[in-house]
Amino acid sequence: MTDVATPMTFERYTGNWKGSFEGWQLTPENSYVMMKPLSQTLPGLSNFYMCGQWVEPGGGLPTGVMSARRLIKSICKEDHKKFKTSFPDK
Ligand SMILES: Cc1cc2nc3c(=O)[nH]c(=O)nc-3n(C[C@H](O)[C@H](O)[C@H](O)COP(=O)(O)OP(=O)(O)OC[C@H]3O[C@@H](n4cnc5c(N)ncnc54)[C@H](O)[C@@H]3O)c2cc1C
Repeated sequence: MTDVATPMTFERYTGNWKGSFEGWQLTPENSYVMMKPLSQTLPGLSNFYMCGQWVEPGGGLPTGVMSARRLIKSICKEDHKKFKTSFPDK
């Protein structure tokens, strides 16, 4: 017997859109647009924020973490709080 994971498996286990295993795929055609970060808020919905592979082009775990960092930084700015981290911006 062979146990095979398909996109349906990913969809069943993770609920990911169309069973994708990462977020946006960068291609030579879209890379110019996709390198721009996506908005982490929605118009008309206050106190709602998004982070993760669907709002940070590239996909994967490092991208998800970068997305969370970007979000916390912008929430700190909104709250007039200093963004403190052990890995400061360069
Ligand atoms: C098989 C596989 C192998 C992978 N291997 C690697 C790898 O080697 N290296 C790498 O960097 N990346 C890898 N990835 C990609 C990586 O796992 C994802 O890019 C990353 O987990 C995305 O993180 P996220 O926080 O954006 O989303 P997720 O980790 O998908 O988190 C989203 C969370 O939201 C929850 N959720 C969904 N809908 C709702 C709702 N309506 N209400 C409440 N909660 C909800 C989900 O249950 C989930 O817990 C792999 C992915 C897969 C599927």
